[in-house]
Amino acid sequence: MAIILENLTKSYGETLALPPFSLRVEEGEKLCLLGPSGCGKTTLLRLLLGLEAPTGGRVLGLPDRISAVFQEDRLCPAFSALTNVTLALGRQVTKEQAARMLRELGLGEDLNKPVRELSGGMQRRVAIARSLLCPAELYVMDEPFKGLDEDTRRQVMDAVLARTEGKTLLVVTHDPEEAAYLGGRIVRM
Ligand code: ADP
Ligand code: MG
Repeated sequence: MAIILENLTKSYGETLALPPFSLRVEEGEKLCLLGPSGCGKTTLLRLLLGLEAPTGGRVLGLPDRISAVFQEDRLCPAFSALTNVTLALGRQVTKEQAARMLRELGLGEDLNKPVRELSGGMQRRVAIARSLLCPAELYVMDEPFKGLDEDTRRQVMDAVLARTEGKTLLVVTHDPEEAAYLGGRIVRM
């Protein structure tokens, strides 16, 4: 089923965080929402995920299982990369599957260190691994590749595309090059 955003809008008091926005996303589509900082990208995702109620408009056709990479990593700093991933996913994922995914994202040797000892880009990749390992029909990612160097970014983008094949992927970014590399439809906000 397609996901339909119909005149979705959000205000906080006087602040118009998201001007009315409409979009249709086909099942299995790869879509990049591209827009400058402050245009309402994160707000749109929060509405889509049901974390906030819209001021106007509605969302139709959301699948049951949605996996998200939030703008912040939302990791437990004292736990290792492996624990952060397995803790969130419980029995849905084995330690071996988690380790394989983390390695695919270029995290080899540091899987057992507390994530607070990892660089920002490494922590970002732990958050991405956790999302990719979660079985879902829709993957929503808010600036997922921010803070990654050029080569790592490509590797991680390739992994995201491979691991979400056949699923709907909605990536928010302010980087036109990133949007082009991902190769799906680009919608400007
Ligand atoms: P983006 O993700 O595109 O950078 P956001 O969706 O975070 O943009 O924010 C869009 C606008 O809404 C910004 O001007 C921001 O300051 C404002 N905004 C976002 N969340 C809130 C909030 N909880 N209260 C007030 N203003 C907000
Ligand atoms: Mg944002």
